Order: sequence, then structure tokens, then C-alpha cells
Amino acid sequence: MPEMRRSVILISILALSMIASPETFNVIAQNAEMHSYTFILSFEPANATVTGTLNMRYVNHASKSLSELCFHIYPNAFKSKGGYIDILQVKDTEGKSLRFTVEGEDETVLRTTLDRPLKPGEAVNITMAFHIKIPNVADRFGYKSGIYCLGNALPIASVYEDEVGWNNDPYYPYGESFNSEFASYSVTIKCPLNYIVAATGVLTNKMVSNGIKTTTWKASPVREFVIVLGNNFKVSKQAVGNVTVYSYYLPEHSEYGLKALEWGVKALTHFSKHFGMYPYPEYRIVETYGWFGGMEYPNLVMISSSLYTEESADFLELVVAHETAHQWWYCMAGNDENDEPWLDEAFAEYSEILYYEWEYGPEVADEMFERYILSSYHRYLNSGKKEHPLSESVWYFGDDTNAYYTMIYDKGACILR
Ligand SMILES: [Zn+2]
Repeated sequence: MPEMRRSVILISILALSMIASPETFNVIAQNAEMHSYTFILSFEPANATVTGTLNMRYVNHASKSLSELCFHIYPNAFKSKGGYIDILQVKDTEGKSLRFTVEGEDETVLRTTLDRPLKPGEAVNITMAFHIKIPNVADRFGYKSGIYCLGNALPIASVYEDEVGWNNDPYYPYGESFNSEFASYSVTIKCPLNYIVAATGVLTNKMVSNGIKTTTWKASPVREFVIVLGNNFKVSKQAVGNVTVYSYYLPEHSEYGLKALEWGVKALTHFSKHFGMYPYPEYRIVETYGWFGGMEYPNLVMISSSLYTEESADFLELVVAHETAHQWWYCMAGNDENDEPWLDEAFAEYSEILYYEWEYGPEVADEMFERYILSSYHRYLNSGKKEHPLSESVWYFGDDTNAYYTMIYDKGACILR
């Protein structure tokens, strides 16, 4: 990607970080019409399925007319593990079926042809019906032992870029490869009564009937929407300013579920003070099963269950700080994680050290930087492995995860520090 564009994105990130506030986001929401997504979902844990409909108002933000729309349908990247999404139909406002194809090397792109070209600034309403199978894996999209994660499970519009067309990058399994526009969401989820739901945004309605719980969540403006459901969660919360922070955890991990809440509150407080106020009313820290330490989504982060122990307490605090920092880096400062992953990962890694500095002082920050970041970078270099540019895409690194994590996370944080 050209240097100029990289600089513009970086400046945008720094500018947004200085001005982010609820008022700013309201101005953004009023001045540029965003896409709006309305999902009605029915979750059935017995079959590990979600059936649903999307009613979407898509706004053409490109400078040319669009004759087709593209969506990411990431569950198909999990086909080898038993997860997928079937798109049952796509219709326009009048109820007329639209032609669509499923494309891409991992079948994660849905391309639908519009009845007539959509002019710049025009909007179109489309509906979609789908069926999702959740795989039995410990991942952002998957389930294990009563916790169901629906990370990147819902269809989401691809970004149309004037200079390159549809940005339909596939799914990158080792990190994040997501890029989407800010949008408004209304999501209604039906689930068995014994399940507790954690999601992006704010719970605006709850009904119970015949053993089925129906909750509606609203969020705006956010880049994507995530849901976690669990049949054994305890929930604790704490207010910090105008924000309520929630921690969802397994009963046997109460001590560290409460610690995660405490550290999340501290991280949110420090980052709000120094980066710009967290502009949403709620933030959720959710214990899940995952191969990762943590995973960031707007208003909600997944934290690996394996960290909720005495031996992992130090790392749990670090991961909570890192994932909370992503609320600014990626969730608000909207970079493309495919092309420039360092713009959120290096900043989040650096921010976790700032958290230690602001919470415990410079000596502790130095020690944590040395232990978790600098030593990792030196170990990599001392092993004779090749140095790579910080600005490369996730696809440049491919399955060389050691190079990816060391360059993008550790080297990136070293440069910022
Ligand atoms: Zn990260």
C-alpha cells in the first residue's frame, strides 16, 4: 500500500484518538448515513445452530454506481471443522429474489446482483435468510462446554474501495483479518431461558415466553456485532463514569472473573483519560474457550478461560489491558486488519505497557515491557530468523505465525515505545 495512504490512516487514528467522545460519534452518525443491520436470530444449542434473517439498509458510500453488493460470510472458513453458513435467500424491498453466488477460496464471499444500479449516496433495502452451524471448536466462532461464541458469524457488507473495488479478503485463522464500515445494529436473539447472552451494544428489550428468552440489543456506530451465549455464566458489573463494565465468567473462576472486571475498569479509565473518552455506555469482558489469550470486538472482548487461574493472573491482567486497548485501536480507529494489522496490534501491545505505567509506575512498565515484548523480539532475532517490515499485511506472513506475532506485535510496540 502506498506510503501516503498509510500516513493518512495513521493521522486519522491519532486524530480520532484525540477527539473521540459521545458527541463526536453522534455527529458522525448524523452527518453520514451508515448502513443499518437488523437481525432476528434463533439460537438452538441442542443442534449448535442459529437460523436468522437480516434486513439491511445498504448505503452506497462509493463514488460510482454499484450493480452488485458483496458480503463476508466467514462461518464457511470453518467448514473443515464442521461450521458453515447457508444463505437461503436474498430479496429486495419488493420481495423479489436477487441472484447471488458464494465465492472466494474459502467460500466466505456472498455476491448478490441488484435489480438496478445503486447510485452514489443512494440506499437500498435487502433481506437475507440464513442458517448457521456452529463448529465444536474453541475459537471466536465455535462452542465448547456450554459457551457458544458467534464472533464474525453474521453476514456483514464488504467494503467497496474506489481504487480497488470490493475488498473481499478471505479469513485469516491466526489473527484478525476484518475490515468493515461503522454501522448501526439492532439484533434480536431468541435462546433457551437458561442461557445468558452477552453482545455488542446495549440490551434494550427482554421477554420470556414458553421457556424461550428473547433479547434485543442495539449498537451504533460500531464496525461489527458479536454475541456470546453461555448456560453457566455468573455476571458482575461496575460503573465507571457513564460506562457500565460487565464481567461474564464461570462460577469456578469467580475470583478471577472479578479481577478481570477490576482490571477492565482500570484499563478503560486510563485509556479514556489519555486516548479520548470511551463513547459507548457499556463494555463487556467475557470468559470463553479459545486458542488465543483474548479477542477484540466492539464493546465486548473474549478472554480465554485458561487465564482465569492464579498461575496465569499476571497474563490475564495483561490480556485484559491489551483487549481493552483494542476498543480504541481497531474498534474506533478503523484500520483494515488485512492490509495493516500493526495499526491495531502494535498500538494495543504498546497500550498495555502504558496501562502498567499509568497504574503501577514506570518501573513495573519497564519490567513488563522487557518480560513480554522486548525479550520475545530479541529471542526471535537471536535465533537467526529473518526480520520483516512492520507494515506488511497478514497475507505476507501467511502461516509463519512466529514472524507475524513478533514483527507486528512485539517489534511494532518496540518502535512505538
Ligand atoms: Zn490484539
